[in-house]
Amino acid sequence: MKTTRRLAALALAFVLGSASFTFAFAADRFISIGTGGITGVYYPTGGAICRLVNKMRKETGIRCSVESTGGSIYNINTVRSGDLEFGVAQSDWQYHAWNGTSKFSDQGKFEDLRAVFSVHPEPVTIIARDDSGIQNITDLKNKRVNIGNVGSGTRGTWEVIEEALGWERSDLKLASELKSAETGQAICDNKIDAYFWLVGHPSALTKESLATCPTHLVNATGSAIDKLIADNSFYRTATIPAGMYNNEADIRTFGVGATFITSAKVDEMAVYTVVKAVFDNFDQFKKLHPAFANLSEKEMIRDSISAPLHDGAMKYYKERGWM
Ligand code: GLU
Repeated sequence: MKTTRRLAALALAFVLGSASFTFAFAADRFISIGTGGITGVYYPTGGAICRLVNKMRKETGIRCSVESTGGSIYNINTVRSGDLEFGVAQSDWQYHAWNGTSKFSDQGKFEDLRAVFSVHPEPVTIIARDDSGIQNITDLKNKRVNIGNVGSGTRGTWEVIEEALGWERSDLKLASELKSAETGQAICDNKIDAYFWLVGHPSALTKESLATCPTHLVNATGSAIDKLIADNSFYRTATIPAGMYNNEADIRTFGVGATFITSAKVDEMAVYTVVKAVFDNFDQFKKLHPAFANLSEKEMIRDSISAPLHDGAMKYYKERGWM
């Protein structure tokens, strides 16, 4: 008898417990943003967006959280599968996912891919050890180079560049696949001669590497690079300005834009809320990371975008008279 009563009480507690759990779930809507390694710029970008979204949580019921991930291609695939609502991704990979080209040719066009806005520029950035003799991207031949983890936009773009240069993987003495957060230690420990990535500036990791061991930034120029830029609308020449880090001269390179993406399956209210949080508080947003200093609203809704804008974003941009 006693046991039966205890069991009944347990069952009741379970029902009540799950009822309140369901209630809490219905009241709060959770959204997640896929970013990159924690020492990159994607991770603080997601953090800045979530911070502004979560400020309006009481009114909107939307709770935003950030996930550190492998980077652009992982984020696009995970938004596609519905496991993430939003992601940060390089504009070259947004282009290819939307068109079903390059790395996305097997999966086909991501029909539901939607752009929200673009963020900071991401130039090809090469940090080389001073004792390596590397002065340009072409000097990476026969060196020990980190080409990025699988799933990163960095790695995808490396593969495109490698082909443009007419190189095989074996043209590198070592092609390591470390995540961005592991490369600073590797270059300082002399495990690699250089690391390559596409990132906004200033970035914490680039700054740390250049400040803590004898390393320098390298140009990415030459005829193969010129051809790549001429043949692909999403690449453009770029400069890392003199004095941004320990560089006395401008670093001449090329790159893409970081973009913020979602899926047509994510509802209009959620996307509208995120966009409103950022652009209603734009001055504050720009202060949340130094790489955002030169952002302009007009460019963010126009440049580096290949997929259609999400309806929820469009609604806000129309309200502001921007479209
Ligand atoms: N562009 C890099 C990638 O997609 C990530 C850069 C960052 O973490 O800021 O791999």
